[in-house]
Amino acid sequence: MIHDIKIFNPKGKLLKVINGQKLMDEKFADIAEKLGNTIWGQAARKFRSNVTCPICKRVVEGRANQKTCGSSRCLRERVKVRLRYVTSKKDKKTMPHIYKIICKECGKKQMKQSEKAKYCSKKCANAFTGRINRKKTREMRLSIGG
Ligand SMILES: [Zn+2]
Ligand SMILES: [Zn+2]
Repeated sequence: MIHDIKIFNPKGKLLKVINGQKLMDEKFADIAEKLGNTIWGQAARKFRSNVTCPICKRVVEGRANQKTCGSSRCLRERVKVRLRYVTSKKDKKTMPHIYKIICKECGKKQMKQSEKAKYCSKKCANAFTGRINRKKTREMRLSIGG
């Protein structure tokens, strides 16, 4: 209980009586409103909200960013599910499309990750482009030489 605030003038004469409780309420409302715009205020506001546990389907009161009912069993379950989800996502990433290509150099069939791959290996690619380059150089030399 907050008592009334009495304001006296320097001579000790009572000037004004302020309802302390009302003043505090107003002050708190004001502070709460201001805090509502800060991160702390948002967090405080979000603190209590209904969370539906995806594991046991129980509705509990918790933080807004809370994902489960908070029981250790459900937390463990959630970690497992998340891990499975993450690994399945990773698997998809590391398993790209595989294309069957025929090497332009040695004619060997090869599985490649790129549809545009033309050679079975770097060696074949080098051999092929090297021969073209050599041919080009020879042609150039021939044309220069007349
Ligand atoms: Zn649960
Ligand atoms: Zn090859």
